[in-house]
Amino acid sequence: TAAEVEVAPITPPVHVNYTKLLINGQFVDAATGKTFPTLDPRTGEVIAHVAEGDVEDVNRAVSAARKAFDEGPWPKMTGYERSRILNRFADLIEKHNDEIAALETWDNGKPYEQSAQVEIPMLARLIRYYAGWADKIHGLIVPADGPHHVQVLHEPIGVAGQIIPWNFPLLMFAWKVGPALACGNTIVLKTAEQTPLSALFVAKLLHEAGVPDGVLNVISGFGPTAGAALARHMDVDKLAFTGSTDTGKIVLELAAKSNLKSVTLELGGKSPMIILDDADIDQAVELAHFALFFNQKAKARALKRVVGDPFKKGVEQGPQIDEEQFNKILRYIQAGKDSGATLVSGGDRVGSKGWNVDCKEEIFGPVQSILKFKASTAAAAAVLTAEISHVRGSYLVSLSIGTPPITFSASPSTVSDLIWTQCQPCTQCFTQSTPIYDPSKSSSFSKLPCSDNLCKASQKSNC
Ligand code: ADP
Repeated sequence: TAAEVEVAPITPPVHVNYTKLLINGQFVDAATGKTFPTLDPRTGEVIAHVAEGDVEDVNRAVSAARKAFDEGPWPKMTGYERSRILNRFADLIEKHNDEIAALETWDNGKPYEQSAQVEIPMLARLIRYYAGWADKIHGLIVPADGPHHVQVLHEPIGVAGQIIPWNFPLLMFAWKVGPALACGNTIVLKTAEQTPLSALFVAKLLHEAGVPDGVLNVISGFGPTAGAALARHMDVDKLAFTGSTDTGKIVLELAAKSNLKSVTLELGGKSPMIILDDADIDQAVELAHFALFFNQKAKARALKRVVGDPFKKGVEQGPQIDEEQFNKILRYIQAGKDSGATLVSGGDRVGSKGWNVDCKEEIFGPVQSILKFKASTAAAAAVLTAEISHVRGSYLVSLSIGTPPITFSASPSTVSDLIWTQCQPCTQCFTQSTPIYDPSKSSSFSKLPCSDNLCKASQKSNC
């Protein structure tokens, strides 16, 4: 155990102004009167008690959003009017940048510099980006046979239910709320129970910017109660979710079993990186901090990483979001050791207070997995990446390899094609193998021979 992490008072000073549910433009208590504590990940101490939304509150919020959609001016406003409000919202975000950043770091534990210089400026920028779209959503005239006029018009869907996680509370807010508002929808947003504060703050700013009541409703609360109530609500027209794959499956099922609302899922992935032996290793280590051949180098970089109070200048990594996540990370590290992995550095608690983990990388925490591999072609690397991503539940693979780089950007079906292809017999040696991809010969992986070393390697695979 390293020395205690020194925790300074919150700077710049920030107050928690909003802890209630935001329904129909008003901050209100939960129908049950219940609250839950949101904690400072640096110390585990309570920052504030926040209203705990549940089924009844979701019902109230959805009714408000429905009314704002059916009767309100919002979906009927011109795109230009909506874009003006969103741009004013971005102005207010910029004005309050440091205050929002401090609130975010306090509740989430990420370095203050990252909040103040990246996340909050990005929030403003994304809102402006979507504001720009509001008056550019064109329809389409489709050529038709005979005396017909066929046109496609894009209309708002209605009430959007949105569920977001804690890792980037305000970028998630921007990516969900921005486009839905630009298009004229109304929203019920369920924030992550670990990080309820910053969304309430910026939602208030959105009202100051002129958005009508009921257009954005914010519910703090837990997944199986408030989140599930939103996912299965009969009057929600669209559900957008970002979070774990397991929860994604649950909300998809809830949506299907209720009103078959359309669902967009953004689920967990591990962003594997393939580094071939002609890569610039220093750059690769520094840029991605991810998988590579030279363990020592990664270790050296990991050891240099500064863990500490996220408000302190130069700290690269604050604490983990909560005790559950902290314990999960330590369990992953133990599981890795149990299955034969070498712990190169770190892996312990830092200090006795707060949820600081000594460094490695990822797993939604500072744990880096380094796997060595032999691959004679870029295609083998692509297949490997596709497989890793698939295992981790990711739905999108993209990587660039070689000079000039070959870039693969694979949709779900392409990913499963790649994995399926990996399990086909090689056309030359007839073992289960990874064929070489040669774009000049064929667009199909399965028709091509594999290299000897890959044939041997793949005999150990699970195909
Ligand atoms: P993460 O690992 O990112 O915390 P989760 O999927 O657990 O992923 O959480 C992401 C969001 O989903 C959070 O807002 C959480 O409250 C919500 N959530 C968790 N469980 C459910 C559920 N059963 N139904 C709806 N939402 C849920």
